[in-house]
Formats: sequence, C-alpha cells, structure tokens
Amino acid sequence: MALRPVDGAGIAVAAARLRRGGLVAFPTETVYGLGADATDDRAVARIFEAKGRPHFNPLIVHAPDLAAHRAWAVFDDRALRLAEAFWPGALTLILKRTPDAPVSRLVSAGLDTVAVRVPDHPVAQALMRAAGCPVAAPSANRSGRLSPTEAGHVAASLGGAADLILDGGPCPGGLESTVLSLTGDGPVLLRPGLVSRDVIEAVVGEAVVGPVEAAGPAPPGTPPESPLESPLESPGLLAAHYAPRAPLRLDAGEAQEAGEALLAFGDAPASGYAAVRNLSPAGDLTEAAASLFRLLHELDALGPAAIAVSPVPEDGLGAAINDRLRRAAVRS
Ligand code: AMP
Ligand code: MG
Repeated sequence: MALRPVDGAGIAVAAARLRRGGLVAFPTETVYGLGADATDDRAVARIFEAKGRPHFNPLIVHAPDLAAHRAWAVFDDRALRLAEAFWPGALTLILKRTPDAPVSRLVSAGLDTVAVRVPDHPVAQALMRAAGCPVAAPSANRSGRLSPTEAGHVAASLGGAADLILDGGPCPGGLESTVLSLTGDGPVLLRPGLVSRDVIEAVVGEAVVGPVEAAGPAPPGTPPESPLESPLESPGLLAAHYAPRAPLRLDAGEAQEAGEALLAFGDAPASGYAAVRNLSPAGDLTEAAASLFRLLHELDALGPAAIAVSPVPEDGLGAAINDRLRRAAVRS
C-alpha cells in the first residue's frame, strides 16, 4: 500500500492502477471509498476480499456524470429529475440494470438492480475521468467497522489491502450517501444520509417511505422486526454496522461507570467522563455529521470502557446521524 498525495501525477498513477485491476482508496464528499474498475469481475471480487465484506452486500457504482451511468442503469423520469437535482452529490439511486449492462454482476450481488452515484469531490472526479471506467466503491474500511473520513483511517483499517490510497484530506460531508430505491412503485429510503428525506420529497413531489413502511404489514404470527433490519432487498443494510470496538451508550446524561468516554453534542454536561469530544459545541448538525466518524475513531482509539453519546435531535441531518449511532450501538 502506498499513500499518494493528490496531484496530477498521483491521479495518473491511481487511474492506471484502477485500469489494471487494482484497488485504489480515494476521498469523496461523503467518506473515503475503496475503488475498483466496475467492469472487471476480478477487481470487484478483490474489494469483497479486502473488506471482508459478505458477497450478498452489493456495491455502489460511481461515474463522473449522469450520461455515463445511462449505459448500465435505467433512468425513468423520476430518476432523471433526482439525478439532475442532486448530482454531483450524496444521493445514491437504486435502479434496474440495463439488459446488457457493462458492469460486473458482482456489484449487484445477484440482483437485477444497480446502485449509482456521481460524487461531488474534485479528487474523485479527476480519478474517474482519468481512469475512464465506472468505479465500484464501498467505504474503505473493514466490513462492519467505522467508515473512514481521513486517509489515515483507511490505512489503519485496511493496511496493505488497498494498492494505493489517495490522500485528499478530510471528507467534507463525513457521512455516507443517502440510498434511495426507485425499483418499486414509490421511492423508498433504504439509508438516510447527507441528502435528507424532505428535500428528496420536494423534488419527486411524492412521499418517500422507509423500508419497513414499504414492506407493508407483516403476515399474522410474524415475530416483530427490529426497526433497523431492512426487509427489502438491500441486504447490506444490516442492523450491526459502523461499529467501534467500545460499546456505545446512547442518549447519555451523567457518566455511569469509570473509564467512560463521552461523545457530546451542543452544551451537554460532560463532567465525570474520562475523555470528551464534542460533535458540535454550537449544536450544528452539518458540523456534527462531518465530525461523527473522526471523533468516534478518536475516542475508540483511547480504549474506553464505553462511549456514551449525548442525545442528537432527529430533524434534518440528525436522522442520518442517529441512524449511524443506533447501528454503531448494536453488538453483532
Ligand atoms: P457502502 O457499503 O457504504 O458503499 O453502502 C452501499 C449500500 O447500498 C449498502 O448498504 C448496500 O446494501 C446498498 N446497495 C448497493 N447496491 C444495492 C442494490 N442493487 N439494491 C439495494 N441496495 C443496494
Ligand atoms: Mg460501508
């Protein structure tokens, strides 16, 4: 694994690696991705190996613009409107594959759908344009672990499994993209993210439901479902995810045991904790999203007995932040 600074030469070397079937970690506006040529089965298979990712968990395909994605994904009017409104940006669309889609079936994990996104980051854009191929890229961390928002997080999590890491500094957004499925009747929000539900609803002019609502009432006698389990076909959205090593205690007030660390928000009281980091002292949700994974990485590295987390409001970006925190709190 080599860490490359981002200049023209770094981009050219990284693009050549991708074209030869290599794995390149690169920054996007959400988190760092671990990229491979999406048309190359062997390269895509290497992503699953490098991350220890289950093969039933499909990957997002990235391209520099909407025009490129039309070769492998079917865009209806609604998908076109969303792509025009939010791309480049942090919205991933799940669409039907075109009949002879020139991307590996492995990225779809056997489904007849494909996840597509246009990242809004100069390094990601330069890399994709130089490589000239669609780039399959999940977050550049070991499966089930915290997503990386800095090049150093990638190196620590993947070690030598990435052929090259492009160091473009911290990711400005800090949370993964919103995942919206357009393969059924209505739009279904599979993963909350940086693009919030209400702005999507304003563009499509219809209600966006969550996976549990979309699945409808369970047949009588079915055991109750965890709200974090997705009953829809998005097998990667498992409850346990984004896990730090330390157990997480949500909606925390006072310290409860010796050696607990606190991930605070706003002016939450912090006395009695062994270590404290604040997502946003001013209570700003955009700042909190951008610092969430970095601060969780930092606190986890101190080896605390537990990480307590102050309550974060559920509105706007808070929904995505709380989604990640709830998943991080589930022990697998
Ligand atoms: P990440 O692993 O962070 O890149 O997240 C990608 C997410 O998108 C995962 O949770 C996948 O399960 C989901 N995803 C990717 N492709 C599809 C697809 N074809 N259908 C449904 N969900 C998908
Ligand atoms: Mg991930």
